[in-house]
Amino acid sequence: MRQAVEVLVVGGGQAGLAMSEHLADCGVPHLVVERHRVAERWRSERWDSLVANGPAWHDRFPGLEFFGIDPDAFASKEQIADYFVAYAEKIGAPIRCGVEVTSVRKNAGRPGFRVETSDGTINARFVVAATGPFQVPVIPPIVPDGAVPLQIHSSAYRNPAQLPGGAVLVVGAGSSGVQIAAELRQSGRRVYLSVGPHDRPPRSYRGRDFCWWLGVLGKWDAETPQGAEHVTIAVSGAHGGHTVDFRDLAARGIHLVGLTASFGNGTVRFSPDLGENIANGDANYVSLLDEADAYIARNGLDLPEEPEARLLGPEPECVTNPLLELDLTDGGVTSIIWATGFGTDYSWLHVDAFDENGKPKHRRGVSAEPGVYFLGLPWLSRRGSSFIWGVWHDAKYVAGHIKTQRGYLAYGIDDETSGDQIRPAADLLKVVT
Ligand SMILES: Cc1cc2nc3c(=O)[nH]c(=O)nc-3n(C[C@H](O)[C@H](O)[C@H](O)COP(=O)(O)OP(=O)(O)OC[C@H]3O[C@@H](n4cnc5c(N)ncnc54)[C@H](O)[C@@H]3O)c2cc1C
Repeated sequence: MRQAVEVLVVGGGQAGLAMSEHLADCGVPHLVVERHRVAERWRSERWDSLVANGPAWHDRFPGLEFFGIDPDAFASKEQIADYFVAYAEKIGAPIRCGVEVTSVRKNAGRPGFRVETSDGTINARFVVAATGPFQVPVIPPIVPDGAVPLQIHSSAYRNPAQLPGGAVLVVGAGSSGVQIAAELRQSGRRVYLSVGPHDRPPRSYRGRDFCWWLGVLGKWDAETPQGAEHVTIAVSGAHGGHTVDFRDLAARGIHLVGLTASFGNGTVRFSPDLGENIANGDANYVSLLDEADAYIARNGLDLPEEPEARLLGPEPECVTNPLLELDLTDGGVTSIIWATGFGTDYSWLHVDAFDENGKPKHRRGVSAEPGVYFLGLPWLSRRGSSFIWGVWHDAKYVAGHIKTQRGYLAYGIDDETSGDQIRPAADLLKVVT
C-alpha cells in the first residue's frame, strides 16, 4: 500500500506528541508513527521504581496537569506513560502504533521523502525524527563478557531480585546510577558505585525545588555550549525527592570509587579521581546555593533561610583513601550495572544530515537536509531540550519552521495541475494507542 502525508513524525514519545500538537496548531497535516506504544520507553525500558526527576507541576506539558498526583510529588514511570497517552487523546494526535520506520530516502528529482515502514511505503514531504535522546544503551568495552555472571545496562535493570546474589558494581553516578545503587543497597546488597564528573543540584533550597531554581535563574534555557554533550545531573525524585549526597550514600554503606578505567586479571581498576569528582560536584551544588541567595536578595523574596544546606560534613573514608583496584572474585561482585548513558541510532535515516561522526547536523532541530528535522536531542536548542517540558518548546519552533517552508513551497504552484500533491490518507488519521 502506498500512502502519502505532508509531515511524517517518527516516534510516539513526548517529542512526537509535542510535535503533533504544534503541527496541528499550525494547520499542518501530519501522521505520527510509533513502533511500539505511546511513550513506550517510560513503560518498558526503565526500572520498576523509577519516578520523575522533577515534580509533577514541572515535568509536564503546559496543556495538561497530572491527574491524581500532588503537584509537588514525583510521578511514577507508569503515571508518566499514562499521562502521555491521555495527552495524545486530548489533542487528538493522529498516531499509528506498531509501525516501525525502516528507511527514509530523499525522492530523486522531486520534493519529499520515500519512507519504508513495517506497514508499507509512505511518501512524506517533511520528516521529523523524534526517536529519542537516549536510544541505544552504551556500555564502554572495559570488562569482557564472562568476567562476572551478569553485566547489564541501566536500561535493562528492573529491580534487585533480577540480579544473582552477591555484590554489585554500579558504574556511573548520574540520576540513574545513584538511584539504582541506593535501591540495591537498601535491598541488602554490597554495592560499589563508580563516580565520574557530574552536576549535583540541591533537590530543593529555601523552599523551592531545583527545577524552579533552574527556571528562574535561566539555566534550563542556557543555550547549547560549543560541542556540548549531555551533562550528567545527579538528582532524584525517589522517596519523595532528596538531594543526591555522596557522603550520605557512603554513610549508608555504598563504597564509592573513581571512574572505572580498565580491567585485567579479574580486577577492575579505578581512576584516582574520586575526590576531585566529589569536590567538583560539591562546587556545582554550592554555586547554585550562591546564585539562589543572590536572586532572593536582588528580588527581595521572602523565602526561609536554610544555612544547614551549606553543611557538607567531612569526606568519608572511601573518598579520602580511595579504592583503586577491585578483584571481582575477592569482592564477591556478581553483577555490573553500566549506568553509562546512551547513543543514537539513525541507521534508518539515509539523508545528508549527519557529520563525519554520524551526529545530526542541525540548528535548533532544522537539519542540514531540507525537509528533515530532529527533535528531543540533548541540547537541541538549550539545556532543557531532552526533558519533558523543554521538548514542547523546541517542537513549537520546528512546527513553525515547517509551516514557513510550506508557504515557500506553495508559492506559484497551481493546485489543480500539481501532480505531486500530498493528500493525507484518511484512514491514517486516527489515534491508536
Ligand atoms: C532513566 C531516565 C529517566 C528520565 N527522567 C526524566 C524526568 O524525570 N524528567 C524529564 O523531563 N526527562 C526525563 N528523562 C529524559 C527524557 O524525558 C526521556 O528520555 C524521554 O523518554 C524522551 O522522550 P522522547 O519522546 O524524546 O524520546 P523517547 O521516549 O525515546 O521516544 C521515542 C519513541 O520513538 C520510537 N521509535 C524509535 N525508533 C523508531 C522507528 N524507527 N520507527 C518508529 N518508532 C520509533 C520509540 O519506540 C519511542 O517510543 C529521563 C530519561 C531516562 C533515560
